[in-house]
Amino acid sequence: MIDPFFTPVSGFDLPRFAGVPTFMRLPHVPPGHDRFGDVDIGLVGAPWDSGTTNRPGPRHGPRQLRDASTMIRAEHPVSGARPFETAACADVGDVGPNPASIPDSLERMTAFYGTLREAGIRPLTAGGDHLCSLPILRALADTKLGMIHFDSHTDLFHSYFGGEMYTHGTPFRRAVEEELLDPKRVIQIGIRGTMYDREDVEFAESVGIRIVRIEEFFARGVADVMAEAREIVGADPIYVSYDIDFVDPTFAPGTGTPEVGGPNSFQALEVCRHLSGLNIAGADLVEVSPPFDASGGTAFLGASIMFELLCAMVSKPVA
Ligand code: MN
Ligand code: MN
Repeated sequence: MIDPFFTPVSGFDLPRFAGVPTFMRLPHVPPGHDRFGDVDIGLVGAPWDSGTTNRPGPRHGPRQLRDASTMIRAEHPVSGARPFETAACADVGDVGPNPASIPDSLERMTAFYGTLREAGIRPLTAGGDHLCSLPILRALADTKLGMIHFDSHTDLFHSYFGGEMYTHGTPFRRAVEEELLDPKRVIQIGIRGTMYDREDVEFAESVGIRIVRIEEFFARGVADVMAEAREIVGADPIYVSYDIDFVDPTFAPGTGTPEVGGPNSFQALEVCRHLSGLNIAGADLVEVSPPFDASGGTAFLGASIMFELLCAMVSKPVA
């Protein structure tokens, strides 16, 4: 039985457009709050996009995702999961990055996620650009993690602009180098778009990362690809990283580096439903850029994906 303190505010009790928005209308329980130690899953905002190489804006993502997430209700429509009655969930606030310094931001974020980790809280993060995943992995990975990564890009490049090692195109290269990820337990799904060169793909091949390009994704279908993903990551702890640009820009235009020819909004949710029972140490939804999200639809899709990820995180492990 979960303490009623952690029950989200219902739209039956307070209209969804009213009140101070927190993720999914959960209580705001930042570090230092007297209930912080009781939280099982912390929804975190990472309002930082200093790793962005093209169109910026994901620093505004968490605030927009909090607003959009007031539409999220208590029960999953297909599985019947009621995550807020299964785990103590809370909005644990934003990490406080430093928009003027990448190294300082990485340190601050790793420290924040270390605090969550010490309290036994698993993080579900709203980015932020994809570089945010690196400091999260630094805090979470005491043994190498597997990873299921939804994206139209590999984010495995060595460097940008003649030697810049920390951008949103490099986080998983660094994570493999730093032995935060076990590359043989990493699968990247949805990869597409024109390419600089094959440096990222050749790196993936050299270390054993599995790339499922979009052509293969559509030829095989969601269930078959996700069955392979589950086999690759196995029963040990994994991270789930979800870049909103995995989704076709028709459905998710509000992002910095859109790539056409991607999954629709239903498939965007459907892939998450195959994560049930995996050993998920943490998850993120990154790269929502409100300045390019004129309709607000990208943020609503992002909030809906976060709910799917949350349901996967609270699901019972497969024996
Ligand atoms: Mn990415
Ligand atoms: Mn991407």
